[in-house]
Amino acid sequence: MTDTSVFDQYPLDQWKEPSHRIMDRFSLAGKKGFVTGGAGGLGRNVAAAWAEAGADVAIVDLPRTKETLEPLAQELAERYGVKVVPLYCDVSDKAQVDALKTSLVDSLGTVDVAFINAGVNVPGDDADEPYEVWQKTIDINLTGAYLTAQIAQHIMREHNHGGSLVFTSSLSAHNANFIAGGPSPVAAYGASKAGIYEYARYLAAALAPYGIRSNAISPGYVWSGIFEGRIVPEAHDMMTAPVPMHRFGTNEEIATAVLFLASDASSYVTGTNLQVDGGYSVY
Ligand code: NAD
Repeated sequence: MTDTSVFDQYPLDQWKEPSHRIMDRFSLAGKKGFVTGGAGGLGRNVAAAWAEAGADVAIVDLPRTKETLEPLAQELAERYGVKVVPLYCDVSDKAQVDALKTSLVDSLGTVDVAFINAGVNVPGDDADEPYEVWQKTIDINLTGAYLTAQIAQHIMREHNHGGSLVFTSSLSAHNANFIAGGPSPVAAYGASKAGIYEYARYLAAALAPYGIRSNAISPGYVWSGIFEGRIVPEAHDMMTAPVPMHRFGTNEEIATAVLFLASDASSYVTGTNLQVDGGYSVY
């Protein structure tokens, strides 16, 4: 007689359970998370989304952001009734990231969700860029993503539970994004973001046995704060001309995508790259 119990894991109509609520799958109630680049536009909006969804959150950024990070943590904690702690770390520095691991466990207990998001686009990142520009970009964007993902997945495994890693890649990982007159060229930046995407995919395969999912988002142009004062309306129109939706995205439109990937709403999603780019990538 064939044992068919393997099929029992696939319920057909979970909505029929009286207490079932599909929106509960988007909840992070009781979860612990950290966000790198947490003082920035995308980072602080993801921190707010995760806090509203019920998670305790560590907002991680450089010490120079202290004046932003301290009041932000206080505001989120008061508004959403969860624990929110500011932590300071240069993600490209291994010793600092190792110390961050200890601080995360001390302050949150564990980590269930991590938004690996700190990143820079260094001026001069063009075809003939100086070595220093290349090195700084790779150190912060790619090595920083590796270092912070390592501590996240090690904490998850040491505490014997699964989790979700969400990496910030970029449209520039998939597209040369070569716009004369645009905000900044992206030679090393695109390479670093393509590396992040592939690293996220590798971890998806390697960490699935531990119940850890790993995904990337690739934002297109997001009005996160970084373009403020850097582009004129004509540049805005030129940049958004090839975007089917003809506009920038907003920080909240990134936060909702990251909440989906962090939460159980995406429990069967791993190794993917979610383009959040107004359709730019369809061309
Ligand atoms: P942002 O500049 O507002 O945020 C980036 C944050 O990273 C800053 O708070 C900064 O202090 C922090 N940071 C920089 N170097 C760091 C380091 N060594 N250690 C720790 N923190 C460091 O920019 P943003 O628009 O919010 O971008 C967030 C992420 O999204 C970045 O990785 C960026 O490359 C990516 N991205 C942004 C866009 C966009 O259009 N805004 C598009 C695609 C990808």
